[in-house]
Amino acid sequence: TRTPLMAGNWKMNLDWKQGLALVEELGETLKDVDTTRVETVVLPPFVDLRTVQVAVDAGRLPLAYGAQDLSAHESGAYTGEVSGPMLTALGCTYVAVGHSERRQYHGEDEAVTNAKVKAAFAAGLTPILCVGEPLEERQAGTHVTYTLAQLEGGIEGLDAAQAKSIVIAYEPVWAIGTGEVATPDDAQEVCAAIREALRALHGDEVADAVRVLYGGSVKSSNVVELMDKADVDGALVGGASLKAEEFAKIAGYQ
Ligand code: 13P
Repeated sequence: TRTPLMAGNWKMNLDWKQGLALVEELGETLKDVDTTRVETVVLPPFVDLRTVQVAVDAGRLPLAYGAQDLSAHESGAYTGEVSGPMLTALGCTYVAVGHSERRQYHGEDEAVTNAKVKAAFAAGLTPILCVGEPLEERQAGTHVTYTLAQLEGGIEGLDAAQAKSIVIAYEPVWAIGTGEVATPDDAQEVCAAIREALRALHGDEVADAVRVLYGGSVKSSNVVELMDKADVDGALVGGASLKAEEFAKIAGYQ
């Protein structure tokens, strides 16, 4: 059985002081949550990570953390970039790769995303590979094909151990930040298709182990019905992860 994973993507919100306040409050509110049953992760901006590391270590908070992106390269002349080994050195265990905002505003294609997934594994990080269709594809009924092409491009060349440990986040672009959450059946349809694609490529052991998250306007008021679905193993949460009480409610969704 798969341990549910609730990940909060802060996006470009909260400076280090605000991030510290949120993490400390989250440490308090998570005391009411059985954190052995659900894994809780925050993805702050790079410049908050050192502060988050110190706060999590000092308070022994039941929180994992990671970054929202990483460089495909290990080190060198890549001005403005942050490498996987730098994140590992900060105690990060996860990193988001291929978020739709990276694809849309930074032109990240399948090749870049695949290189970043591999860079994450090389550094000992678990990638959370984000996939999902824009509105036009949904309207044309091509959302599954579109999303599976992103999945297959993103995981190309992984070995079985890597494929087994990756996390996939299905985030339909039209549901991100819009308040328009996918229906539980819509989320289930694509999350199940992702798992079947993993089964075809890597077999039962991998398909049954990989956590497939849903993301897009997740809140404490809709998380339970999403988590009821067989192939939804957690959530990637944007806006609702910026408030400690709300995110703790999502983590304690049962
Ligand atoms: P919202 O939860 O704000 O819709 O954002 C979803 C998202 O993009 C998480 O990565």
